[in-house]
Parts: sequence; C-alpha cells; structure tokens
Amino acid sequence: MKTDILNLVELQKLDREISSVLKNAFEVEKKSKEKTLLRKLNGMRKTRLDLVQTLDTLIAKRYEKLRGHKGESTAVVPVIKGICQGCFIGVSTATYAEIQRKDVAATCDHCGRFIYYSEFSAS
Ligand SMILES: [Zn+2]
Repeated sequence: MKTDILNLVELQKLDREISSVLKNAFEVEKKSKEKTLLRKLNGMRKTRLDLVQTLDTLIAKRYEKLRGHKGESTAVVPVIKGICQGCFIGVSTATYAEIQRKDVAATCDHCGRFIYYSEFSAS
C-alpha cells in the first residue's frame, strides 16, 4: 500500500495532467478529438477521486487548500539536499529525518507545503 505522501505526489501529477487536458480540450473544442479528450478526462477524474479517497481527510483538504482553486499553486514539493523546493529554505533536521522515512506526509516548517525526500540533485 502506498503512503499518503506518495499518493500526494501522484495526485499533483494527475491534477497537472487534467489541467493540461482541459486546456487542450478548449483548443480543439470544435474538432473531432473532443469526444476522445472528454473520455480521457472522465477517466482521469475517476482515478483522481480514487486517489483522493486513499488520503487522510485532513491531508486531502490541506492539499486542495495549498493547490488553490484553479490549481495555480504547487502543493507538494521535493526536498533536495535539505532544501525545500517550494520556498528554498532549509528544513529542520527533525523534519528531514521524518521525510527520509517516506511514510509520513510531512510539511515544510516555513511554507507549509507537503514535502518529500528526493535524492536527485538540484542541478
Ligand atoms: Zn518550504
């Protein structure tokens, strides 16, 4: 079973895909691709719903709040070399240890975004 934080990462990825499909759908509105896109969109929304249901209610609510009404904000960010990629401020040692366990949906001490451990370097 996946942990909340991994599901959050997945949820954010899906939300971005949905936004881009929606954007596409408007652009090809009058074209024949529309039905295929809408079907794809419905499938994605169903997946999204399933994903949200795996999350703790409070975590799901917090995610939506962080994301903003139009999905304009990034709610889930990686921490690279101890630095939150949302606010670019170092996280505390305790928080860093917490995210390395990868089984909790930890939040940044400074900006409050959900954070996850990433071994990739920033460059
Ligand atoms: Zn931060």
